[in-house]
Amino acid sequence: MNTIPGDIEMRAGEADVIPADEFEVPEISQDSRETVGDYTVPDPKMVMRRVNVYYGEKQAIREVSLDMGTNEVLAMIGPSGCGKSTFLRCLNRMNDTIPACRVTGELLLDGENIYGKGVDEVLLRARVGMVFQKPNPFPKSVFENVAYGPRLHGLAKDATELEEIVVTSLKKAALWNEVKDILEQPGTGLSGGQQQRLCIARAISINPEVILMDEPCSALDPISTAKIEELMDELREQYSIGIVTHSMQQAARVSQRTAYFHLGDLIEVGETDQMFTAPRHPLTEAYITGRFG
Ligand code: ADP
Repeated sequence: MNTIPGDIEMRAGEADVIPADEFEVPEISQDSRETVGDYTVPDPKMVMRRVNVYYGEKQAIREVSLDMGTNEVLAMIGPSGCGKSTFLRCLNRMNDTIPACRVTGELLLDGENIYGKGVDEVLLRARVGMVFQKPNPFPKSVFENVAYGPRLHGLAKDATELEEIVVTSLKKAALWNEVKDILEQPGTGLSGGQQQRLCIARAISINPEVILMDEPCSALDPISTAKIEELMDELREQYSIGIVTHSMQQAARVSQRTAYFHLGDLIEVGETDQMFTAPRHPLTEAYITGRFG
């Protein structure tokens, strides 16, 4: 297996003897923070290069370069606090809403700098939608939750077109059959799993190109989780999806590529199958074999 001389030496089999909570996460040198694996793809939707993120003095993301492919689900995994959400939030400038947060580096959507002068953040967030950990429907009807965005962005020329958008979005979010008779009832009255699919319908309704999901299933039961995971596979045909998840099983199930973060560094990136069967960096291996979390 892979070892980095002078840094970490781990033997396969140690996973059996060291309980996860006793595993001492090794410090790694600057050299071994270099990303292992190819962070580029032939058909990128988004290209990120040498991204650094700071909260005040504290650096949360260090020199991360990563592509998000067209029609792929890219999973971002790693222990809590390693910077996954911070990185995800850079992709639609959600970090701009945090006053102490500063982002440097190059972040491109279809080749255009999303931090460039004159970029309209509202339009950017329409193109790069986001679904959060906790479903957050508006305190409005099911219909209005989905109609709100298209109305705001002037996407429908009349009421019939608006209705079409709402219905299509609910269908794409695999929610239509469950809500078609209760469109006027409050979105907040739906179950947690339904609320999350409503939020996905809301994101879809404004024709995004990329959908970012930050732990979208962590507040959901297994059946709702399975529905959302199935949905992600369908949505991938039309969108690029970036998902942050603490569940390695989920990453393995839903994504084509996986990026492993550790303390602000992108340690390894690669095809999901390869990452989970033959990780190349010792830290990735230690993490995915459950030696720390
Ligand atoms: P993850 O998603 O991997 O759990 P985060 O991106 O939430 O990690 O956090 C990365 C680091 O940035 C952590 O040390 C966290 O404490 C810090 N951080 C996250 N959000 C903020 C914030 N709004 N203000 C200051 N520090 C933050």
